[in-house]
Amino acid sequence: MQPTGDVHLGSYLGALRTWVAGQHTCDAFHGIVDLHALTVTDQPNVIGDETVSLAAMFFAMGLDPDVATIFVQSHVPEHSQLGWVMECTISYGELSRMTQFKDKSAKRESQFIAAGLFTYPALQAADILIYDANEVPVGDDQRQHIEITRDAAIRFNHRFGDTFVIPEAVTPAVGARVMSLQDPTSKMSKSDDSDSGCIYVVDEPAVIMKKFKRAVTDSETGPEAVRFDRERKPGVSNLLEIHAAVTGRTPQEVAADYEQYGALKVATGEAVVAALDPIRVRYHELMDDRGELARLLRVGADKARTVAAATVDRAYDAIGMLPA
Ligand code: AMP
Repeated sequence: MQPTGDVHLGSYLGALRTWVAGQHTCDAFHGIVDLHALTVTDQPNVIGDETVSLAAMFFAMGLDPDVATIFVQSHVPEHSQLGWVMECTISYGELSRMTQFKDKSAKRESQFIAAGLFTYPALQAADILIYDANEVPVGDDQRQHIEITRDAAIRFNHRFGDTFVIPEAVTPAVGARVMSLQDPTSKMSKSDDSDSGCIYVVDEPAVIMKKFKRAVTDSETGPEAVRFDRERKPGVSNLLEIHAAVTGRTPQEVAADYEQYGALKVATGEAVVAALDPIRVRYHELMDDRGELARLLRVGADKARTVAAATVDRAYDAIGMLPA
């Protein structure tokens, strides 16, 4: 995950929550990808603070540094090494088809568009392949990037012999695509135009309730109005899916409990507050001890480097680079 701005409900439900659940059954590696954040950074002394903050958020959500490997990408320089190999394995045409690049560069229209914004799926492919990952737990919006990673691994293996594990995207059944509360046809995102459509994990309960009460729905009335239909009722369906994701039910089950949008909004807000409040409290406690956060990240980087260095050696060896 990139250390750019606060974590929101979309990244919590689409990704982070499943990482916490998966850490005991998988050998999990989770990187705070500060080199990716460079693609949109032009101010000094920002990335480091954002990195520490995201680490505190990871631990507050329940990622256990004794169980999962939690590290900062720039602390493991092998990512950059394999990133270049991937830039030479993925084509210009493939990168041109990435919808995230099209979206992000369109939003930055009159601003500086770094070449790294265009090539970053190659670095992301390296981030994944370097740990021999079988599964990549992500939200729906990342599917295309996992697909390009698979293509790159297959191409490399074909050219130079079996080197990389071919990974698969794993998305949650409910919560893989949380939409903006103000514009339920676009995904909830930290780069939203207004903050009111985006629930941040660090939002105070009163702020969360206010955002849910103002959520955009539709003008239908009557006992059947609350129903799950993403196409025709995007706002209501988004509320139902959020409610279902935080309470462990299905959107249809939640829909059966409500007849009015007002009551659904309040109940969804309350369910989200109940899920996020302990995380916010713990996050602030952890942020009081930055020395300890830095120490935990160093331990993670040491563990990550052992695996990453072996993969880079294997890839160089497969290509037949002259040993140093
Ligand atoms: P980001 O917050 O864009 O850095 O993405 C971090 C992770 O959260 C990725 O796995 C995304 O797929 C996931 N994610 C981001 N936004 C959403 C969303 N609105 N709904 C579901 N998952 C999301």
